[in-house]
Amino acid sequence: PMNLRVQNLSKHYGATPVFANVSLDVAPGEFVAIVGESGVGKSTLLNCMAGLDHWDSGSVHLGGTDLGTLTNDQCALLRRKQVGFVFQAFHVLPHLDVAQNVALPLLLLGTPDADRVSAMLEAVGLGGLGARLPQQLSGGQLQRVAIARALVHAPKLIICDEPTSSLDGETGRKVMELLTLVARSPDRCVIVVTHDNRIFEFAD
Ligand code: ADP
Ligand code: MG
Repeated sequence: PMNLRVQNLSKHYGATPVFANVSLDVAPGEFVAIVGESGVGKSTLLNCMAGLDHWDSGSVHLGGTDLGTLTNDQCALLRRKQVGFVFQAFHVLPHLDVAQNVALPLLLLGTPDADRVSAMLEAVGLGGLGARLPQQLSGGQLQRVAIARALVHAPKLIICDEPTSSLDGETGRKVMELLTLVARSPDRCVIVVTHDNRIFEFAD
């Protein structure tokens, strides 16, 4: 089962600290919300948790593995298998259609599964839009492509950076329920950065 342990993590850009001595534990089955004003370092912290960024001191352990001891390639492989990441800027690939974007994690793992891709698109309310190109979608639809792509390979650690920022009330609620359902699986962790008050009612 996945767990996340951040210990005394500090990072700065030049002389400017982004955060200092951040410690937290996320247990299997937990759904954790991280809240804070714009610019305090939430996205940077999430990137460090996934080994996408470097820190100056402290440590990050994923499922017992010390990310600081891994090479970039080893870290990428761990991410491919174990992590789903919803980026604040979505990072949906513009030259792939919606279904191909969502299928990508499965393809990289060598386990393509068109039925699973369709089910994920249905789950985020994008059923029937698989053949669209990203440029033909609204911001809220793009965000849901990013969420479907992060969940399609059933990762053990799911990290979401403001995943409901572009979603209207009802769609946002559905996405939160989906993430909550995923988090209820006893071997997974979900970590969400948010300004969205509705998320508090779902988070542990
Ligand atoms: P949040 O997600 O909480 O809004 P970020 O993690 O995006 O905050 O950014 C934290 C702080 O780090 C901000 O003040 C931002 O300006 C600064 N920052 C982010 N990236 C860089 C960078 N590459 N160089 C210098 N400062 C940066
Ligand atoms: Mg941010």
